[in-house]
Order: sequence, then structure tokens, then C-alpha cells
Amino acid sequence: MPTERHARLFLENAIWGDVRFCPHCGSLSFRPLRGTSVRPGLYQCAETECRRQFTVTTRTPLHATKLDLRTWVAAMFLVLTSSKGISSVVMSRILGVNQKTAWKLGHAIREMMDDRQGIAGRLSGVVEVDETFVGGKPKFRHGVKNMRGRGTGKPIALVAAARNGQARATLIPNAQGCTMKPIIEDWIDPASVLITDKNSSYHKIGASFANHLTVQHNKRQYANRKTAAHINTVEAVNAVVQRALIGVYHRLGRKHLQRYLAEIIWRWNHRAPETRVRQRKSSTGSQSVETRTV
Ligand SMILES: [Zn+2]
Repeated sequence: MPTERHARLFLENAIWGDVRFCPHCGSLSFRPLRGTSVRPGLYQCAETECRRQFTVTTRTPLHATKLDLRTWVAAMFLVLTSSKGISSVVMSRILGVNQKTAWKLGHAIREMMDDRQGIAGRLSGVVEVDETFVGGKPKFRHGVKNMRGRGTGKPIALVAAARNGQARATLIPNAQGCTMKPIIEDWIDPASVLITDKNSSYHKIGASFANHLTVQHNKRQYANRKTAAHINTVEAVNAVVQRALIGVYHRLGRKHLQRYLAEIIWRWNHRAPETRVRQRKSSTGSQSVETRTV
């Protein structure tokens, strides 16, 4: 972004796109304000009962920002392109702002990554659901899955992952059926096939979907032999969530976890298809290269 103007036009394009409207009343008719005393990028609604002024940052987490829009765009770039998230210390160094500012920038950006309006739509197809303890499992005896969210005090993340690559996650106070049911029903299309472990909390929830398959989690069963059901996808998401959140949990406590969770899920949902190249040795000893997009 060579100038502030470039950054502003970039954000107008990214935030408003082709359908531009007044953020106060939603009207499609407005005009740019011109004049030497007017700051660039200021618009006024043409609706007689509204007539309010706004810029591209109005009613966004960038609202009333004192920072350059260029700094915002650079910060967004840093957060969105770092594969594991970026600390405010590193960000402050790169952007040339103090750490407190970098911290605020990071949080505002994470807030924008949270799909609170449900724009991403419902998960569909084959969808795996599982919960995970943030900050590591409570004392775990092999083969016994006890204390599911009760008495451990540790925050729990409920995670749903569709086989087509989309995922949702949120923090829940406990792993009881009545807590998880409305969330899962909100996330997942009822025509989907739900796959969970055998936890009894999922019994009733499963009835809301076209089919419900289960996997015996605690017996280290990777796929159900009869149905071939597995929850490897959601376990992959869980592993990412765990790795990213453990540090956050120990450093910051649970207050900020939901925001970091939003960032992790955004990253999962927007990851570029990566091409994996595997080399295989055939029986004749010659090597073939198999490329697949995952
Ligand atoms: Zn308006």
C-alpha cells in the first residue's frame, strides 16, 4: 500500500465490494462528500430519514481508528498469512507500533475472523463432531474416558469438521447433550451424516440428522470396522486447536480463548489446497510420483 488512499480503496473494495450500502440504515443510495475540509473517504447517506455520514471503517472493528489504514492492511496481511498465528511482539516489531497497539490490532482482526453472522453457511455431507479439552486432557487413565467436562474446570472446545474441509468450533461450558445439541443443529445441515464417538451425549443429537454413525474413541479404534466411520478429520482440527490454544490458555487464561479459536477455524476454512507429493516405490523398484490435492 504505497499511500493511505490505496489502503482506503483496497478496504472499500474488500469490505463493501460491488454492493455498497449505508452501514447505518442499509440504504443503497449515498454520495461521497467532497471539499477541502472533508477527509477523504467520507460518504453521506441520501436517505432523508438517515442522512448520516460514514466511512469504510464505520461499524467495523476498525471504527474510529487512529492508526493508518495502511497499518491495518499490513496487520491483516501478517495475521492471515502466518500459518500458526503471530504474536503481538513480532507484529509490533514488523509494523513499527508499540506492543499494546499490535495486541489491539490482532484482537480486532481476530474478531473479524469470527463468523458470527453465519455467512459461511451450514456444514453438510459427512460431518464429524468431537469435543476437546483446551490445555490438555484431564488426568486420563488409558481406556477410561471419564470426567467429560465435569469437575475438571478446563474449558472445552466443541469442534465440527465436514469432510469437504470446512469446520466450526466454539467454547462450551460442559459436554452435556443439552449444551451441545442446539449448537450442532445450528452448524450442520439436517440432511448430513453425523459421525461422533460413542459418548451418550450424542445419542439424542444424532436423531436430528439423516444418519448418525459412531466410532469407539477410547478403544483406539480409528475407523468403525462395520461402517468405516472415522473421525480423523475432526481430530486433525482438534490437534491444530490444541497446539495453538495450549500456549494461549497458559499465558492468557480463558478470557481470550474464543477469539483465538475463531482465528484457528478461519485459517482452517481458508487454507489453500496444498499439493502433496508422495513418492512410492512400486514392486518393480521404479519410483512413481503421486500428486493429489487435499
Ligand atoms: Zn443511511
